[in-house]
Amino acid sequence: MTFALLVVAAVLVPAGPHAQWKTRWSYEGPTGAEHWSELDPDYAACNAGKEQSPIDIQNAEKAELPALRFEYKSGPLKYLINNGYTIRVNYHDAPESGNFLIVGDQRYQLTQFHFHRPSEEYIHGKPYDMVVHLMHQASDGKVAAVAVLLKAGGANATIQQLWEHMPKTEGKEQEIAGVEVNPAGLLPRDTSYYTYMGSLTAPPCSEGVTWFVLKTPMDISAEEISAFAKLYPHDVRPPQPLNGRVVKQSQ
Ligand SMILES: [Zn+2]
Repeated sequence: MTFALLVVAAVLVPAGPHAQWKTRWSYEGPTGAEHWSELDPDYAACNAGKEQSPIDIQNAEKAELPALRFEYKSGPLKYLINNGYTIRVNYHDAPESGNFLIVGDQRYQLTQFHFHRPSEEYIHGKPYDMVVHLMHQASDGKVAAVAVLLKAGGANATIQQLWEHMPKTEGKEQEIAGVEVNPAGLLPRDTSYYTYMGSLTAPPCSEGVTWFVLKTPMDISAEEISAFAKLYPHDVRPPQPLNGRVVKQSQ
Protein backbone atom coordinates (compact mmCIF):
# COMPACT_ATOMS: atom_id res chain seq x y z
CA MET A 1 0.00 0.00 0.00
CA THR A 2 2.73 2.43 0.96
CA PHE A 3 4.58 1.58 -2.22
CA ALA A 4 1.47 2.15 -4.36
CA LEU A 5 0.92 5.55 -2.75
CA LEU A 6 4.50 6.56 -3.42
CA VAL A 7 4.19 5.61 -7.06
CA VAL A 8 1.00 7.65 -7.44
CA ALA A 9 2.62 10.62 -5.71
CA ALA A 10 5.62 10.43 -8.03
CA VAL A 11 3.34 10.56 -11.08
CA LEU A 12 1.06 13.32 -9.83
CA VAL A 13 3.70 15.65 -8.43
CA PRO A 14 6.49 16.25 -10.93
CA ALA A 15 9.54 17.05 -8.86
CA GLY A 16 11.89 19.94 -9.47
CA PRO A 17 11.94 22.99 -11.66
CA HIS A 18 11.48 21.03 -14.88
CA ALA A 19 7.81 20.57 -14.08
CA GLN A 20 7.12 22.60 -17.23
CA TRP A 21 8.54 19.73 -19.30
CA LYS A 22 7.51 16.20 -18.39
CA THR A 23 10.44 14.82 -20.39
CA ARG A 24 13.89 16.30 -19.95
CA TRP A 25 15.71 17.47 -23.09
CA SER A 26 18.94 19.33 -23.76
CA TYR A 27 20.72 21.38 -26.42
CA GLU A 28 23.64 18.99 -26.93
CA GLY A 29 24.40 15.27 -26.78
CA PRO A 30 22.10 12.22 -26.68
CA THR A 31 19.02 14.32 -25.75
CA GLY A 32 20.04 17.21 -28.06
CA ALA A 33 18.03 18.91 -30.80
CA GLU A 34 18.34 16.16 -33.43
CA HIS A 35 16.77 13.68 -30.94
CA TRP A 36 13.95 15.75 -29.43
CA SER A 37 11.20 13.84 -31.27
CA GLU A 38 12.50 10.50 -29.98
CA LEU A 39 12.27 11.65 -26.35
CA ASP A 40 8.50 12.08 -26.11
CA PRO A 41 5.59 11.70 -28.58
CA ASP A 42 4.52 15.22 -27.56
CA TYR A 43 7.77 16.48 -29.12
CA ALA A 44 7.00 14.95 -32.56
CA ALA A 45 6.85 18.33 -34.33
CA CYS A 46 10.49 19.04 -33.40
CA ASN A 47 11.87 16.72 -36.06
CA ALA A 48 8.78 16.00 -38.23
CA GLY A 49 7.42 19.55 -38.45
CA LYS A 50 7.84 21.49 -41.68
CA GLU A 51 7.55 25.01 -40.26
CA GLN A 52 10.14 25.03 -37.49
CA SER A 53 12.15 27.83 -35.87
CA PRO A 54 14.69 29.33 -35.73
CA ILE A 55 15.72 30.07 -39.32
CA ASP A 56 18.52 31.81 -41.18
CA ILE A 57 16.93 34.90 -42.73
CA GLN A 58 18.57 35.27 -46.15
CA ASN A 59 15.94 36.68 -48.50
CA ALA A 60 12.95 38.63 -47.30
CA GLU A 61 10.22 40.05 -49.53
CA LYS A 62 9.33 43.68 -48.93
CA ALA A 63 5.66 43.97 -48.06
CA GLU A 64 3.04 46.36 -46.71
CA LEU A 65 2.87 45.16 -43.10
CA PRO A 66 1.25 46.66 -40.01
CA ALA A 67 3.50 48.41 -37.49
CA LEU A 68 4.13 46.65 -34.19
CA ARG A 69 2.60 48.53 -31.28
CA PHE A 70 4.08 47.64 -27.91
CA GLU A 71 2.03 48.56 -24.86
CA TYR A 72 4.62 47.59 -22.27
CA LYS A 73 4.86 49.18 -18.86
CA SER A 74 6.89 49.06 -15.68
CA GLY A 75 5.85 46.48 -13.08
CA PRO A 76 7.21 44.47 -10.13
CA LEU A 77 9.86 41.91 -11.09
CA LYS A 78 7.94 38.71 -10.76
CA TYR A 79 8.51 36.02 -11.75
CA LEU A 80 12.21 35.49 -12.44
CA ILE A 81 13.36 31.93 -13.00
CA ASN A 82 16.51 30.02 -13.89
CA ASN A 83 14.72 27.04 -15.43
CA GLY A 84 17.79 24.97 -16.29
CA TYR A 85 17.74 26.14 -19.92
CA THR A 86 17.76 29.94 -19.69
CA ILE A 87 16.92 32.95 -17.54
CA ARG A 88 13.27 33.81 -17.97
CA VAL A 89 10.74 36.35 -16.68
CA ASN A 90 7.21 34.95 -16.48
CA TYR A 91 4.06 37.07 -16.49
CA HIS A 92 0.85 35.72 -15.00
CA ASP A 93 -1.13 38.97 -15.36
CA ALA A 94 -4.86 39.09 -15.79
CA PRO A 95 -5.90 40.21 -19.31
CA GLU A 96 -6.82 43.69 -18.04
CA SER A 97 -3.46 44.41 -16.37
CA GLY A 98 -0.83 42.95 -18.67
CA ASN A 99 1.68 44.09 -21.27
CA PHE A 100 0.50 43.94 -24.87
CA LEU A 101 1.67 43.68 -28.46
CA ILE A 102 -0.83 44.94 -31.02
CA VAL A 103 -0.42 43.99 -34.69
CA GLY A 104 -3.21 45.18 -36.99
CA ASP A 105 -6.41 44.03 -35.29
CA GLN A 106 -4.69 41.26 -33.27
CA ARG A 107 -3.89 41.88 -29.62
CA TYR A 108 -1.42 39.60 -27.84
CA GLN A 109 -0.48 39.55 -24.16
CA LEU A 110 3.13 39.16 -23.00
CA THR A 111 3.45 35.77 -21.25
CA GLN A 112 7.24 35.56 -20.74
CA PHE A 113 10.61 36.59 -22.09
CA HIS A 114 13.95 34.78 -22.02
CA PHE A 115 17.45 34.82 -23.51
CA HIS A 116 19.65 32.74 -25.82
CA ARG A 117 23.42 32.90 -26.42
CA PRO A 118 24.28 33.32 -29.24
CA SER A 119 21.09 34.32 -31.07
CA GLU A 120 19.08 31.40 -32.45
CA GLU A 121 18.21 33.56 -35.46
CA TYR A 122 20.77 33.92 -38.20
CA ILE A 123 20.68 37.00 -40.43
CA HIS A 124 22.44 36.44 -43.77
CA GLY A 125 24.25 33.41 -42.38
CA LYS A 126 25.40 34.88 -39.07
CA PRO A 127 24.08 34.81 -35.52
CA TYR A 128 24.23 37.83 -33.19
CA ASP A 129 25.85 37.71 -29.72
CA MET A 130 22.53 37.04 -27.97
CA VAL A 131 18.78 37.36 -28.47
CA VAL A 132 15.79 37.99 -26.23
CA HIS A 133 12.54 36.23 -27.15
CA LEU A 134 9.38 38.00 -25.99
CA MET A 135 6.49 35.51 -26.14
CA HIS A 136 2.87 36.64 -26.45
CA GLN A 137 -0.49 34.95 -26.68
CA ALA A 138 -3.84 36.19 -27.97
CA SER A 139 -7.13 35.33 -26.25
CA ASP A 140 -7.79 32.76 -29.00
CA GLY A 141 -4.50 31.00 -28.13
CA LYS A 142 -2.49 32.28 -31.12
CA VAL A 143 1.18 32.83 -30.26
CA ALA A 144 3.32 35.76 -31.44
CA ALA A 145 7.05 35.82 -30.69
CA VAL A 146 9.27 38.88 -30.94
CA ALA A 147 13.03 38.39 -31.28
CA VAL A 148 15.29 41.30 -30.35
CA LEU A 149 18.87 40.65 -31.46
CA LEU A 150 21.57 41.75 -29.01
CA LYS A 151 25.08 42.80 -30.01
CA ALA A 152 28.09 43.66 -27.90
CA GLY A 153 28.24 47.38 -27.15
CA GLY A 154 26.93 49.54 -24.34
CA ALA A 155 25.24 48.09 -21.28
CA ASN A 156 21.47 47.52 -21.26
CA ALA A 157 19.96 48.86 -18.04
CA THR A 158 17.00 46.46 -18.07
CA ILE A 159 19.22 43.43 -18.58
CA GLN A 160 21.55 44.74 -15.86
CA GLN A 161 18.59 44.84 -13.46
CA LEU A 162 17.65 41.24 -14.30
CA TRP A 163 21.21 39.96 -14.05
CA GLU A 164 21.62 41.53 -10.59
CA HIS A 165 18.83 39.29 -9.36
CA MET A 166 19.10 36.25 -11.62
CA PRO A 167 19.26 32.95 -9.73
CA LYS A 168 22.68 31.35 -10.30
CA THR A 169 21.29 27.84 -10.09
CA GLU A 170 18.25 26.14 -11.53
CA GLY A 171 15.16 26.49 -9.35
CA LYS A 172 11.59 27.70 -9.01
CA GLU A 173 10.34 31.11 -10.13
CA GLN A 174 11.06 33.89 -7.66
CA GLU A 175 9.33 37.12 -6.82
CA ILE A 176 11.96 39.85 -6.41
CA ALA A 177 10.75 42.36 -3.85
CA GLY A 178 11.06 46.08 -4.51
CA VAL A 179 12.31 45.86 -8.11
CA GLU A 180 10.34 47.31 -11.01
CA VAL A 181 11.17 46.24 -14.55
CA ASN A 182 9.87 47.61 -17.84
CA PRO A 183 10.21 45.16 -20.75
CA ALA A 184 10.12 48.19 -23.10
CA GLY A 185 13.77 48.63 -22.10
CA LEU A 186 14.54 45.62 -24.31
CA LEU A 187 13.07 47.21 -27.45
CA PRO A 188 14.86 49.33 -30.08
CA ARG A 189 13.26 52.61 -31.15
CA ASP A 190 12.90 51.34 -34.74
CA THR A 191 10.69 48.25 -34.67
CA SER A 192 10.72 47.41 -38.39
CA TYR A 193 10.85 43.66 -38.72
CA TYR A 194 11.12 40.38 -40.59
CA THR A 195 8.14 38.05 -40.20
CA TYR A 196 7.43 34.41 -40.97
CA MET A 197 5.41 31.48 -39.65
CA GLY A 198 7.38 29.15 -37.39
CA SER A 199 7.39 27.32 -34.08
CA LEU A 200 8.55 27.35 -30.49
CA THR A 201 12.34 26.76 -30.60
CA ALA A 202 12.28 24.30 -27.68
CA PRO A 203 10.16 21.18 -27.08
CA PRO A 204 7.31 20.66 -27.83
CA CYS A 205 8.24 22.84 -30.89
CA SER A 206 4.57 23.71 -31.49
CA GLU A 207 3.94 25.35 -34.88
CA GLY A 208 1.59 28.20 -35.79
CA VAL A 209 3.82 30.79 -34.09
CA THR A 210 4.01 34.17 -35.86
CA TRP A 211 7.60 35.39 -35.53
CA PHE A 212 8.61 39.04 -35.65
CA VAL A 213 12.41 39.40 -35.79
CA LEU A 214 13.28 43.05 -35.27
CA LYS A 215 15.84 44.35 -37.77
CA THR A 216 17.48 46.76 -35.34
CA PRO A 217 19.64 45.08 -32.69
CA MET A 218 19.99 46.37 -29.13
CA ASP A 219 23.31 46.80 -27.33
CA ILE A 220 24.37 44.54 -24.48
CA SER A 221 27.73 44.93 -22.73
CA ALA A 222 30.51 42.34 -22.91
CA GLU A 223 30.19 41.99 -19.11
CA GLU A 224 26.46 41.29 -19.39
CA ILE A 225 27.07 38.69 -22.10
CA SER A 226 29.74 36.93 -20.05
CA ALA A 227 27.59 36.92 -16.90
CA PHE A 228 24.88 35.03 -18.83
CA ALA A 229 27.47 32.81 -20.53
CA LYS A 230 28.71 31.63 -17.12
CA LEU A 231 25.28 30.04 -16.65
CA TYR A 232 24.29 29.24 -20.24
CA PRO A 233 27.17 29.39 -22.74
CA HIS A 234 25.21 27.83 -25.63
CA ASP A 235 21.42 27.52 -25.23
CA VAL A 236 20.46 27.48 -28.90
CA ARG A 237 18.66 25.26 -31.36
CA PRO A 238 20.31 25.27 -34.82
CA PRO A 239 18.57 26.95 -37.80
CA GLN A 240 15.80 24.85 -39.34
CA PRO A 241 14.98 24.28 -43.03
CA LEU A 242 12.74 26.92 -44.60
CA ASN A 243 10.77 24.31 -46.64
CA GLY A 244 9.45 26.92 -49.04
CA ARG A 245 8.29 29.39 -46.43
CA VAL A 246 8.39 33.05 -47.39
CA VAL A 247 9.92 35.62 -45.05
CA LYS A 248 8.48 39.11 -45.39
CA GLN A 249 9.93 42.39 -44.21
CA SER A 250 8.29 45.64 -43.30
CA GLN A 251 9.40 48.67 -45.34
ZN1 LIG B 1 13.58 31.38 -27.12
